[in-house]
Amino acid sequence: MEELNSYRIIRSLARSGFEIFHEKGKMLLIFSKYFSVVHVWLIPNRYNIGIVNRTQSSGRKMTTVIDGKAFAVGLRKKIGDSVSSLINEHNIKPALAVVLVGEDPASQVYVRNKGKQTLEAGMDSIEHKLPVDTSEEDLLSLVDQLNNDPKINGILVQLPLPKQIDESRVINTISVEKDVDGFHIENVGKLSIGEESLVPCTPAGCIMLLKDHLGSLSGKNAVVVGRSNIVGKPVSMLLLKESCTVTITHSRTQDLPSVCREADILIAAVGVPEMIKGEWVKPGAVVIDVGINRVSTDEGKTKLVGDVDFKAAMEVAGAATPVPGGVGPMTIACLLRNTVIAACRQHNVEIPEAIKSF
Ligand code: NDP
Repeated sequence: MEELNSYRIIRSLARSGFEIFHEKGKMLLIFSKYFSVVHVWLIPNRYNIGIVNRTQSSGRKMTTVIDGKAFAVGLRKKIGDSVSSLINEHNIKPALAVVLVGEDPASQVYVRNKGKQTLEAGMDSIEHKLPVDTSEEDLLSLVDQLNNDPKINGILVQLPLPKQIDESRVINTISVEKDVDGFHIENVGKLSIGEESLVPCTPAGCIMLLKDHLGSLSGKNAVVVGRSNIVGKPVSMLLLKESCTVTITHSRTQDLPSVCREADILIAAVGVPEMIKGEWVKPGAVVIDVGINRVSTDEGKTKLVGDVDFKAAMEVAGAATPVPGGVGPMTIACLLRNTVIAACRQHNVEIPEAIKSF
């Protein structure tokens, strides 16, 4: 709750013409057009405000760290409020069913977090855990059962699936209206022709963060590194919908650094740790790092890094998302949003204004 209140204050400062730099949730530097810099320390129940120098030692304006974690907290609050009004006004309690096949540790963590956050938003969460040797036929029959259950509004089958199961067959068996991952071929097609659809969660999260930071994206040069069906392609479609000029790049792209240097908006979804270097970034660009890579440290431990060399990018970019704490937290928040949207459409009820658009 404390975090939420702080976030609200920060948002309202931002709306009053302040520009915000957020460092690891502990200290905030707030730039004003009129005074140099006001800085705020986040101390529970108290805010200290003081004036500091506006520029880094180089004289360059500081880069904004886009705080996806704080944005996701705000979005989940709006989703929770929307769920309350759906329950109170229409007696609809959205429900999300998540299916996990096997015991992949990363997938187990994702599924646990999805269930926890679904419940926290006031929705019903149903988990189906199946053994690793589940047959495709058995999984398809469970999906069919969930498709026909009127109490279930959203279905998510956690990927990757064991090799005996054809992923695309499973995804395309999920009812289009309940496909909250937005991976069904019909939702993919609708997205590509600009029709109303359930939009993939991570790409939706990227666009929300970009619009929150930049306002209109119209006319910007956007470069997407990666062309996967779950991130690269759908995020490119969404950028196009926002009237960006979009370049999609991949492992065969020639002179990728030069292509990236043209980007006002640079989105990295590659899966190669810190591949995008500082000198690939156009000065002032907004960099969105989707990558989540676990790497070993010199101390024999492991840590998460993105696809962008964050420290180097921070020297050049206008704004950038960190890893962790950038795009990652947006994915589950957008999944919850999709579940509420799916429930509204299934019951022919207006989608709550607070979560309707990006
Ligand atoms: P994929 O492996 O499906 O796709 C990777 C893409 O990157 C491919 O299009 C590939 O090109 C391209 N690529 C690989 N190497 C290079 C290179 N050297 N130069 C240029 N392009 C290259 O990955 P995903 O899209 O599924 O995921 C990308 C990253 O995002 C991963 O780190 C993943 O963990 C993370 N992720 C994070 C999520 C979140 O919630 N934040 C959600 C989903 C993914 P080609 O097609 O030619 O092979």
